[in-house]
Amino acid sequence: MTDTTDVIDVIVAGGGPTGMMLAAELRLQGVRVLVLEKDTEPNRVVRGLGLHARSVEVLDQRGLLERFLPLGKQYPLHGSFAGISKPAPDGLDTAHPYVLGIPQTVTERLLTEHAVEVGIELRRGCELVGLSQDDQGVTAELADGARLRSRYLVGCDGGRSTVRKLLGVGFPGEPASTEWLLGEVEVGVPAETVAAVSAEVRATQRGFGAGPVGDGVYRVVVPADGVAEDRTVPPTLEELKQQLRVHGGTDFGAHSPRWLSRFGDATRLAEHYRTGRVLLAGDAAHVHPPLGGQGLNLGLQDAFNLGWKLAAEVNGWAPEGLLDSYHAERHPVAAGVLDFTRAQAELLSVAPGPRAVRRLVSELMDLEDVNRYLIEKVTAVGIRYDLSERSGERSGERSGEGHELLGRRLRDVGLRQGRLYQRMHGGRGMLLDRTGRLSVDGWADRIEHVVDVGDELDVPAVLLRPDGHVAWVGEDQADLLVEVPRWFGTAVGPATTPVSGERKHNG
Ligand SMILES: Cc1cc2nc3c(=O)[nH]c(=O)nc-3n(C[C@H](O)[C@H](O)[C@H](O)COP(=O)(O)OP(=O)(O)OC[C@H]3O[C@@H](n4cnc5c(N)ncnc54)[C@H](O)[C@@H]3O)c2cc1C
Repeated sequence: MTDTTDVIDVIVAGGGPTGMMLAAELRLQGVRVLVLEKDTEPNRVVRGLGLHARSVEVLDQRGLLERFLPLGKQYPLHGSFAGISKPAPDGLDTAHPYVLGIPQTVTERLLTEHAVEVGIELRRGCELVGLSQDDQGVTAELADGARLRSRYLVGCDGGRSTVRKLLGVGFPGEPASTEWLLGEVEVGVPAETVAAVSAEVRATQRGFGAGPVGDGVYRVVVPADGVAEDRTVPPTLEELKQQLRVHGGTDFGAHSPRWLSRFGDATRLAEHYRTGRVLLAGDAAHVHPPLGGQGLNLGLQDAFNLGWKLAAEVNGWAPEGLLDSYHAERHPVAAGVLDFTRAQAELLSVAPGPRAVRRLVSELMDLEDVNRYLIEKVTAVGIRYDLSERSGERSGERSGEGHELLGRRLRDVGLRQGRLYQRMHGGRGMLLDRTGRLSVDGWADRIEHVVDVGDELDVPAVLLRPDGHVAWVGEDQADLLVEVPRWFGTAVGPATTPVSGERKHNG
């Protein structure tokens, strides 16, 4: 076996959206990354159809949004829960109040292009089949018998994650009870017929649909006849047509499929996101039915949370517990998404009880606060990490303690020159300092000190982590110097307390 730990810091198993996002985030921090992808070609199956506001923000924070916007369509945000739709309230807390409609295949292509451009290595046709770890690193075994060493490994290998299984990490939850067939096909009937049949059937069966995707091709979804033993085996065209006839009374003369696939409603969450030097992210850590379209978004945001923390570990400055905060922060978020989809699934039933609750929820969504709450949940802009664990024994008397911004991501704000998110492309932490009196000199390699902040930020100063979440709010230098090492490790230079009134202009 070749010991490659000196050349590979992190192996990412799985080159889907989570894996490619993570690989690029690690690379941004100088980490040497190898992505192993079992498929020889990019996946043609279009699962996800859109990106929610927080994912759009994440792309913006890394300078990637410009690649995505021309290839997607912006749909104004609206309240949406279990198919109940309400107009969005004014003043949502994001500079991107829309869903970016973009096929998952395009998202994957753009993320892959970017990751390769910044210097990750992607090896296609490489399936990870074995795994072991020791104090120094991880050994990955490939299907062809090759072995690779790295310091860490992250399983981004989807819902059936080999990495998760090899670790023996529990994946409790509910198995699939229902399955749907999905595909893109051409049809032999007029567009009006497809639309009319779809509308009629969907009135009582929300798991049925057929909509045009361009060039005479339709995206078709229909309940399957039972749950397949092996969902990796795609259905046949005849199977799809048969189910269309059963549920819609017509198979639309479907022919010439671009691709066919199946998916289920299994809902499961990994017990641990970290086992020593091996971590899990994306669908490898959580699966749920695609109600609300959150799975891919959740994976991208796992990667955004994990990337800088794992890089800090590799680069040798991670404070104790930083890497474990990945599980502490992201596991509850996924648990919340799973519950969110479970609740929606209940309301899709046509039984009298769920229909009554559905009517009630619809009325409640007319209340602005309820509507806003649901939108902030599905878009993930409302996420607030509980930072109390990392802040240890904090007394509660220090300034900023419990501030409403703590643990939340800061929305994009205008600076005197440019915008906050434009300044975050490099992936460093940031001290936004309206006082001009603060200093993070000892951490200049990890934190950018910005003093030309402007009035849009209505607190004296905030410390942002590289993922844009607020780690500290306040104006007191001593207080700041207590908090900075908790996220950014020890200072490399003197951590000074500047003379009162001294101004910094290195932002
Ligand atoms: C019908 C449908 C619609 C959906 N719609 C949406 C939506 O609108 N919005 C949304 O956010 N989400 C949606 N999702 C969910 C979304 O598709 C997934 O959450 C997303 O693909 C997860 O990304 P991932 O990178 O974690 O895993 P995957 O996309 O599954 O990628 C895993 C990768 O790992 C590779 N791999 C697997 N095993 C190995 C191995 N042993 N070695 C090496 N490589 C391996 C695979 O080939 C694959 O490329 C939808 C899902 C479905 C089924």
